[in-house]
Amino acid sequence: MTETTPTPEATEPAASTDCLFCRIVAGEIPSTRVHEDDLVIAIRDIAPRAPTHILLLPRRHIPSALDLTDADAPLVGRLFAAAADIARSEGIADAGYRLVSNVGRWGGQSVDHLHVHLMGGRAFDWPPG
Ligand code: AMP
Repeated sequence: MTETTPTPEATEPAASTDCLFCRIVAGEIPSTRVHEDDLVIAIRDIAPRAPTHILLLPRRHIPSALDLTDADAPLVGRLFAAAADIARSEGIADAGYRLVSNVGRWGGQSVDHLHVHLMGGRAFDWPPG
């Protein structure tokens, strides 16, 4: 039998029943979706901090960017490419926008399911507070 490297999908649980974003991915909690594909969905943030504030979530439960491996390269590429597509369709691409993925308590992460904030429609300070 030929040995194959297990895919991330094969080695991690697809969803966690007590994870807010897994429940949003499953459609159990309502959200405003602006994008969906086989790997990623994007929803409007419930408490926007900018005129455009969208969250990109992998469908698969991954706690944070700290848990990503080389095997997740297609997913990470998709997150950034989907963010660019959404930025164009939201009309914020030309002025510029910010992508942020908070990791852990000191990073400001409040939902333990990997997500990328896509924020635009105003200028942002650097460094963030
Ligand atoms: P973070 O603090 O980086 O983990 O980001 C979590 C984000 O999820 C925050 O910006 C929240 O406003 C947002 N959020 C929490 N609950 C919901 C929800 N039900 N629908 C959409 N966004 C949410």
